[in-house]
Parts: sequence; structure tokens; C-alpha cells
Amino acid sequence: MADKLILDGKIVSNEVKMKLKDRVDKLADIGITPCLATILVGEDPSSETYVKMKGNACEKLGIISKRIHLSADITTDTLLQTISELNEDDGVHGILLQHPVPDHIDERCAFESIAIEKDVDGVTSLGYGQTAFGFGVYPSCTPAAIMQIIDYFDIQVEGKNAVVVGRSPILGKPVSALLLNRNATVTTCHSYTENLELHLSQADIVVAAVGKPNFIQGSWLKEGAVVIDAGYNKGNVGDVDYESCYKKASAITPVPGGVGPVTISMLLKHTVESAERTVKI
Ligand code: NAP
Repeated sequence: MADKLILDGKIVSNEVKMKLKDRVDKLADIGITPCLATILVGEDPSSETYVKMKGNACEKLGIISKRIHLSADITTDTLLQTISELNEDDGVHGILLQHPVPDHIDERCAFESIAIEKDVDGVTSLGYGQTAFGFGVYPSCTPAAIMQIIDYFDIQVEGKNAVVVGRSPILGKPVSALLLNRNATVTTCHSYTENLELHLSQADIVVAAVGKPNFIQGSWLKEGAVVIDAGYNKGNVGDVDYESCYKKASAITPVPGGVGPVTISMLLKHTVESAERTVKI
């Protein structure tokens, strides 16, 4: 590994998309166009932006973006009905329900109703369980992106101490499982962890998934650690204090331009794979 490596997610994302383009073309040759259905409930501006970005990324690659926008006052039953129709629709290969939905809707119940073969965003408990067991088809997209970055830059995982800060179902827990399955020794930290700095001081690989801007400090890190910042906070700021961590790290993801762009590429990849599975390419 070079002295100081910037883990540029845009390079990784471009490579993934370039390879996907060929696969989309091959599917087109046999009359199949991959299709991702996105469901947005309500008018949350950030969610609207995220869904738009995902839809646009699909269209750029020749994937159909079926955008469903439901009003904030729908019931859980209406949402379940919408998901059920998409599950039944052979023209839809992936379903993404944008988080969060309004409080009165049972989001977990809605996630669980997504058919496993269309759960390209890795939100069902079955998908999570399969990922943890090591045979998951579509892990959550951000954990998948982190592994994609690790592999692209040839970062050794086996035998290394990996410390994940955060244990959310879409990020901290599944990325811990993926690292464990790759033979890292994994410590998953959370808000009850005592002496976080001690854990981090022993980490060869740090994954920040805390949701707190500039939280992880360079002084907490071991010299030469690989730092992967999955955080994305207001003002384009990660969960890692970039300046101080940059000094200590051997490799670090920037924010923006690190994990974020690769996450969207993973969603596209999973959607294409799902379409391929319908025809056994
Ligand atoms: P989340 O659900 O809020 O989870 C945050 C986790 O951090 C929780 O497990 C929490 O512990 C832990 N935590 C909070 N304070 C802590 C502390 N002082 N010390 C140690 N752990 C602490 O967040 P999330 O959805 O996983 O997202 C995490 C970050 O990733 C956010 O910045 C989010 O914007 C970003 N994100 C990025 C992408 C992307 O595509 N790049 C995708 C998703 C999320 P408890 O469990 O004990 O509460």
C-alpha cells in the first residue's frame, strides 16, 4: 500500500458502473431491462433528493426507474398493498422503500413485506440473516459499498482487528458481519461502549457509522489504520474528523466522494443481478 492512500469512492463507483453497463446491454439483447421501483412516502426533502439521485443513476445506466410517491397520510395497509403489487410485477427486479417513512406507518412491517428476491437494498431481516450467515445475495448497500472499496484497494482484512462504531441494522451490524465473514476480528461499538478510544487504538480497520459529525479523532487511532467513514452529516461532513485522522491513517475515505457514491452503485449492481437471476445468465 502506498504511504497515504485516499480511498476515492468515485473511482470505485465508476468502475462498478462501467462493468454493469455491459451486463445491462447483454440483458437488453434478450429483451430484458432491469427495473428498480422506489417508494417515497411523504415530502421529506432529503428523502426526495436521495430517491431522485438513485432514480437518475438508474436511468443513466439504462435501468428503468419506477418512481412511486405516496402521500404522507397513507396507512400501513396501503403501503403493504403497493409493495405486494410490486412483488407480483415480473417487470420489477428491485424494490427500495426510502427510509424514514412517517411515524404512523409500521416501517419494519413494510420492509419485511418486500420479497427476498427483490430486496436489493438489504432491508429485510431474512436478507440480514442470510448476510450474517455468509450466503446473503444482497447485503445492505452501504456495507456492500464498504467491502467493495476494501476489495478495490486491496486492503487486507483477514486476521486484522476491525472496529465498527455503530450497530444500526442497515449499517453497523451488517458491515460487522461482512468483515467477520472475511476473517477479521471484529469489535462492534455503540453508545454504551466503555472506553471507545481503547478499542479504536487497537484497530487496523475502523468503520465509522455513528451519525455524529467529526466524531472520531485522529488521536484515538493506531498509526497506519485504514479509516472508512460511512457517515454523512449536514454540510457534507463525515463521522470522522478528517484532518486529524488523515495524519494517522494509512488509508482513508473522503466525505463526500467516499462511501456515498459506491453505495448507489451497489444498489444498481443488485438490481442488475436480480434481473439476471430471472433469466439465469
Ligand atoms: P443510526 O441508526 O443513528 O446509528 C448510529 C449508531 O451509532 C448507533 O448504533 C449508536 O449506538 C452509535 N452511537 C451513537 N453515539 C455513539 C457514541 N458516542 N459512541 C459509540 N457509538 C455511538 O445511524 P445509521 O443509519 O447507521 O447511520 C450512521 C451514519 O452513516 C450517519 O452519518 C448516516 O448519515 C450515514 N449513512 C451513510 C450512508 C451512505 O450511503 N454513505 C448510508 C446510510 C447511513 P446505539 O445503538 O447504542 O444507539
